[in-house]
Amino acid sequence: MTTSAFSRGRPEPGTAETVAVTTGRRTAYLIALVVLPLLVLAAAIPAAWGWGIGPRDAFIAVVMYLISIFGIAVGYHRHFTHRAFQCGRPLRVALMLAGGMAVEGPVTLWAAEHRRHHKYADRPGDPHSPWRYGDGGAALLRGMAHAHVGWFYTARRRSDRRHWVPDLLADPDVRRFDAAYPAVVALSFLLPAVVGGLWAMSWAGAWTALVWGGLVRYAVVHHVTWSVNSIAHTFGDRPFRTRDRSSNVRWVALLTLGEGWHNWHHVDPACARHGVLKGQPDPSARLIRWFERAGWAYAVRWPSPERLAARRAEALRDPAVPPSAGSPAEGGEGGVPPG
Ligand SMILES: [Zn+2]
Ligand SMILES: [Zn+2]
Repeated sequence: MTTSAFSRGRPEPGTAETVAVTTGRRTAYLIALVVLPLLVLAAAIPAAWGWGIGPRDAFIAVVMYLISIFGIAVGYHRHFTHRAFQCGRPLRVALMLAGGMAVEGPVTLWAAEHRRHHKYADRPGDPHSPWRYGDGGAALLRGMAHAHVGWFYTARRRSDRRHWVPDLLADPDVRRFDAAYPAVVALSFLLPAVVGGLWAMSWAGAWTALVWGGLVRYAVVHHVTWSVNSIAHTFGDRPFRTRDRSSNVRWVALLTLGEGWHNWHHVDPACARHGVLKGQPDPSARLIRWFERAGWAYAVRWPSPERLAARRAEALRDPAVPPSAGSPAEGGEGGVPPG
């Protein structure tokens, strides 16, 4: 596609699918999602340089990082947004809590924005396309900043949850989680602090664990997650043809535990596995496989080998031909699990 799709002055499509956001809320997003993480990261670099990070805090931070990223990738994204697998209530609630630890908003808000992203990917209506301002150097840089964090503050309208996630709003557990979201955010910082304090048996232990396992971890988790929106729609390779510019970026995939294999994900959004080609490790798909083996996850939508081969052959035949876009409804069960 061309970026002329984003011609200025033309109204964004799907206004009925969005709701206006108040200035107060946009300011809250600006502080929690843009300013605070940047300040924390700026402060963490001299701190790490000066005093380093002890093994206790490093351990707590890594565990909190894994909980947050798996919570987003396996929970918020693959289960709640795309229904790539089904699971029982205990795992569903655990995944929702783990995703909440990432401090990226209640699951309904996250899923609503993300479903809109898939519907309009890299076209007018996409909440966060790096191609929004054009292809050129400065325009692309501006677009990447917009896709990474800018849209949290600049967007005057957000996805209307009643339109995008009626299935989630119908679940009393999800509604309870949304209502309790401020407490979940508090838990995301209190948990590492309590573990660190008890482990060290000191207030200092609680404080340094709060800094590394709470604040620095949340800031890193944010920028790692947002990299999928900014980097994995700009750079990298595209082994499959899609209507958008979704791509694969290895380092993003490693940090996001599989989410950086973003090209196939836009071909088949409901697929439980994103890293479908050789040499594309997808720890989130591996975790879903473990859940399936344990009997906790079922109706898992693994990639179908026929569909995969057909889409790959199609891209190899003529990468320049406009793609026959993948439909989110496609993909099915009974395909090939990871590894
Ligand atoms: Zn995308
Ligand atoms: Zn998605």
